[in-house]
Amino acid sequence: MSKIPLVDLKAGYARQKAEIDAAIQEVVTNTRFIQGKEVKDFDAAYAAFCGTKHSIGVGSGTAALHLVLAALGIGPGDEVAVPVHTFIATAEPVSWLGAKPRFIDVDPETGNMDPAELKGLMDGVSAVMPVHIHGRPVDMETISAIAADAGVPVIEDAAQSQGAEIIKTDGTVVRAGGYGIAGCFSFFPGKNLGAFGDAGGITTNDDDFAAKLRMLRDHGRTTKYSHEIVGYAHRLDTLQAAVLNVKLTTLDAGNQRRRELAGLYSQALLGIGDLRLPPVTPGQVSVMHHYVVRTHHRDALLAFLKENEVEAGIHYPIPLHLQPAYAFLGHKEGDFPVGEAYAKECLSLPIYPELTEEQLERVVATVKSFFETV
Ligand SMILES: *Cc1c(COP(=O)(O)O)cnc(C)c1O
Repeated sequence: MSKIPLVDLKAGYARQKAEIDAAIQEVVTNTRFIQGKEVKDFDAAYAAFCGTKHSIGVGSGTAALHLVLAALGIGPGDEVAVPVHTFIATAEPVSWLGAKPRFIDVDPETGNMDPAELKGLMDGVSAVMPVHIHGRPVDMETISAIAADAGVPVIEDAAQSQGAEIIKTDGTVVRAGGYGIAGCFSFFPGKNLGAFGDAGGITTNDDDFAAKLRMLRDHGRTTKYSHEIVGYAHRLDTLQAAVLNVKLTTLDAGNQRRRELAGLYSQALLGIGDLRLPPVTPGQVSVMHHYVVRTHHRDALLAFLKENEVEAGIHYPIPLHLQPAYAFLGHKEGDFPVGEAYAKECLSLPIYPELTEEQLERVVATVKSFFETV
């Protein structure tokens, strides 16, 4: 019995090997390693994919967040609202700029930033940075209204949600990254759209903001040796752009397959033990970056799956306010109870477009046999 991995990058590569190899070879042959044509092509294609006016390719998802915060002028004395249930990269760039993350508890069902909690903690906040966690969009309409009341921008951490959709109450559909002042994407290899190394992108509908971000990503340049502002070295690598151009062509189909697989999981796992399944949320179309179940037997289930050659994961075991890196902010256990419970109970099951239905059935059977013993 072969192991079922949590993420299968080899299967993804095999699916498009010939095209990807050719695209990489083209860059190597032409030696356009920095700011090559492939970067421009990807920026245009990714903006079209997201339905935004601009996309600015950068070095990573973390670099995307850093550049957007820098372009907004976030610095010492500022506080940026971030959810406690996320990867630490959501908060780090806030700290790099000398500002402070203001942690916000999450919704008990979705794990996304809870608008009601945000509302109570808006005083003195300079920007709001919700995360579309696990591929599911946050309640952008409510969060944007709260931010607009306070006159501060919303930045979307869309690292996990390439192609996720928000259906507004008036029926219009907006893709993740097209709602706030900017959307920040990661193309880390394991994300739904993954490069062969670090890569990221920023989407925005604001022309001036896009121009500023293009300058900031590349040493503040306007021409080769004219530097308008002090910028950063946060460019998207041409080789990575070449890979992304190929993989973007199958992203919508891959996201659709993830949703189908999630549907099969949820059908098969309904009513098993104390499992809580990912909710179906009206108005929010997830791209199922993670398929997250919750159970009070999380650690035992994780170990049982491992013994039976099924790799599961925990996204994320420690909420940000309890990370040693943020101990200096003085938070303690109990400060954000919903995020803390989520961290203790969440378990991500294998999901990726190449996961076969036989593999999925084996995961389900293993989960079921675990709950027969507890
Ligand atoms: C992956 C991720 C990031 C960081 O992206 P990198 O490309 O690894 O720098 C930021 N936020 C969230 C929510 C992520 O999942």
